[in-house]
Amino acid sequence: MTLQDLGWDAHFATAFEAQGAPGTVPARVVREARTRFRVEGDFGNRLAALAGSLLGASERPTVGDWVAAELPAGDGPGVIRAVLPRRTAFSRKAAGTTTAEQIVAANVDVVFIVAGLDGDFNVRRLERYVTQAWNSGAFPVLLLNKADLCADAEARRREAEAAAPGVSVHTLSALGGDGLEALGPHLTPGRTVALVGSSGVGKSTLVNRLLGADRMATRAVRADDSRGRHTTTHRELIRLPSGALLIDTPGLRELQLWTEAGALGGAFSDVEALAESCRFRDCTHRHEPGCAVRAAVAAGRLDAAHYGSFLKLQDELAYLARRQDEAGRLEEKRRGKEGARMAREVERYHPKRRGR
Ligand code: GDP
Ligand code: ZN
Repeated sequence: MTLQDLGWDAHFATAFEAQGAPGTVPARVVREARTRFRVEGDFGNRLAALAGSLLGASERPTVGDWVAAELPAGDGPGVIRAVLPRRTAFSRKAAGTTTAEQIVAANVDVVFIVAGLDGDFNVRRLERYVTQAWNSGAFPVLLLNKADLCADAEARRREAEAAAPGVSVHTLSALGGDGLEALGPHLTPGRTVALVGSSGVGKSTLVNRLLGADRMATRAVRADDSRGRHTTTHRELIRLPSGALLIDTPGLRELQLWTEAGALGGAFSDVEALAESCRFRDCTHRHEPGCAVRAAVAAGRLDAAHYGSFLKLQDELAYLARRQDEAGRLEEKRRGKEGARMAREVERYHPKRRGR
């Protein structure tokens, strides 16, 4: 693959010039395994190790990153000297810490959020994924898969659209291949896409479809709990026949678990039940009079630690919502600029359309 094939553009070219590490060439990380990386560029692909100065640094590279690599003559492993600033990043909290973030995928342009229409459809969960996508800087697209198993797929699509304003929602059947043509416009050459979604929704099946071959093993959903199982991909940044680049890593797959464990229903249904009796409908359960939740804590009927983690989660959601608003505003601005640029282009090619 050439740099262009890998998604290189003027933005990263400028960033590469700016970092100025002597004797390096630009390359993209296509695979990551602890301390070893596989990088690809105009030179082909090579194993590479981190420069000592980057060991333990917070900007440790990950799949999708653009780096400045020093390549020795011959085909021995290269050295990654610098990581170029990321355009977008998917992160999760590093295990065991409260604040440290771990980047699991870099420079993703479009995130396909996959949901199944086979009975496990949950709009709240979709909202969480959409929030997370905006948060990363990438553009979310909702894919409602297994439309063949759903009698009212169109109604579900409208529900999802209402929950995620401004996000395109497509219904499809990865298994049968229906509706896949709608993905074409998102899969343009050099664009980087990633898939997220619960286990069993059909991500591997979709990837196989996109690859046009059974490159990844899909296994039948386990009968007992309707959860699918999947095996890890061989490569982590894959070029699709359309020319788009797909990032599919275990890290991204684990992200889904983090999302779901973090905020979904179940865990705080007791608090929610108590909240029904609060005096105010919009009670935050912090300082309002007549709060049934705080009353239950005071009376020992609700575990104080559980109440504490409920409050913490509320803060986190409020934070995510703010970030989503910001991302939304930035996107509006970007679209506005893009619209103006396209209008100028149209004008150049069709000058007679000018005026009215
Ligand atoms: P993943 O865990 O998200 O990667 O899900 P898989 O791709 O492994 O799919 C889980 C199960 O759902 C498999 O048995 C697939 O054959 C099935 N499946 C995937 N897409 C569809 C679809 O569009 N329709 C139907 N009926 N089944 C599907
Ligand atoms: Zn309350």
